[in-house]
Amino acid sequence: MSDYVKDLMAEVKAKHPAQPEFHQAVQEVAESLSLVLERHPEYKSARILERIIEPERVIIFRVPWVDDQGEIHINIGYRIEMNSAIGPYKGGLRFHPSVNLGILKFLAFEQVFKNSLTSLPMGGGKGGSDFDPKGKSDLKIMRFCQAFMSELFRHIGPNTDVPAGDIGVGGREIGYLFGQYKKLRNEFTGVLTGKGLNWGGSLIRPEATGYGAVYFAAEMLTTRNQTLEGKICLVSGSGNVAQYTVEKILDLGGKVVTLSDSNGYIYDEEGINKEKLNFIMELKNVRRGRIKEYVDKYKKAVYTPLDDNMDHNPLWDHKAHCAFPSATQNEINAKDALNLVNNGVYVVSEGANMPTTIDGVNIFLDKKILYGPGKAANAGGVSVSGLEMSQNSQRLPWTREEVDARLSLIMKNIHKTCVDMSNRFGTPGNYVNGANIGGFLKVADAMIDQGVV
Ligand code: NDP
Repeated sequence: MSDYVKDLMAEVKAKHPAQPEFHQAVQEVAESLSLVLERHPEYKSARILERIIEPERVIIFRVPWVDDQGEIHINIGYRIEMNSAIGPYKGGLRFHPSVNLGILKFLAFEQVFKNSLTSLPMGGGKGGSDFDPKGKSDLKIMRFCQAFMSELFRHIGPNTDVPAGDIGVGGREIGYLFGQYKKLRNEFTGVLTGKGLNWGGSLIRPEATGYGAVYFAAEMLTTRNQTLEGKICLVSGSGNVAQYTVEKILDLGGKVVTLSDSNGYIYDEEGINKEKLNFIMELKNVRRGRIKEYVDKYKKAVYTPLDDNMDHNPLWDHKAHCAFPSATQNEINAKDALNLVNNGVYVVSEGANMPTTIDGVNIFLDKKILYGPGKAANAGGVSVSGLEMSQNSQRLPWTREEVDARLSLIMKNIHKTCVDMSNRFGTPGNYVNGANIGGFLKVADAMIDQGVV
């Protein structure tokens, strides 16, 4: 670590204590950027990095709501408006009991670089609540979403800040949030993305993050003249990103053998085919059940419970070629990364945000595998959100083929940016540096153009 990064990290930790995920995200970016700052002292003297790591605005609010039994609950709501140098704040909302300021700041920080990489005009933001939607009735979810939006509505808008979904926020929640925004503002605008198709949503938005992560993996493989055909793939999670990752891997001829939720994972040596994927989609999206139920139906598959005290995640300990972490942050530690490499995995494309710890990332880099970090590999979701905003502005929906073609092109371009930037700064094959530098330059130049604001 250079002295500059050491000093910066000491300052960040002192100013923002007890935010380990935020520190981790900043450190990873700062290490890549030290290469840029050496060659471009103008960024250092304008203190761009020091400015980028401070959110432009943080909104924290009380979310009181009454459940269907008349009981009162109080949750915390957040919106981090991180950076608007290249467009309105854009980034998802996460509803999960683990949500806190540090986690949302890391996500908002990552989002700034990711959105810049898409080449669409979107700044970075993120938000959410410590509300746990798991096992709650639709009525409870609606009441919470309405209470959450009753405060958030005054801070967002189609040209200001455009939230979307993330963990625990899918089509159902976006619907309730949008309904409340429309009522309070008395206007029908594209203030949220991930909307229903018949009220302003875009085709391919639900699929976009998963499809994009697979397109990114396919692009990385082309650098070795290979395809996904016949490749064995480990996928974690079983939510939005994981489901469409599996779908696209199957389309491209790969075989998926794992999926998980926060309680455990399934290993199906025969492969999760389209019929089994449909079962999972119904299980997770309609019945909102647990992944364990998969082995009740498909008896040859094996279920293994997971718990937070394990020193590694056994899902990553199977023979395979590719891994698509698609659940949550830090789900691959150094031991998992070693297990993956030792089991033959040489392609990792991150559907989740920051799923690999810094030690894990360093192992992937040392072993020179094809490692696509989340801010590049999972940028497909926000890209199609950007396309949804364009369609809303035009008041004209595009066809499935048109959106998918644009998504695929954006993922190709992001891949190319990563390759070009890692080469330009002397670290060929290092997609981490490529993504961080590629995302940074556009935002940094815009900040310089716009003065110290
Ligand atoms: P979902 O809520 O649809 O699914 C999340 C999945 O991950 C569920 O299977 C969930 O299990 C599991 N999970 C969540 N938290 C944990 C945890 N702490 N430990 C283990 N498993 C966990 O979310 P998404 O699929 O939308 O998001 C998954 C990841 O992808 C996140 O990192 C998100 O930030 C990232 N991402 C999402 C985008 C999108 O467009 N949706 C865009 C870019 C990135 P359970 O049901 O038990 O909670």
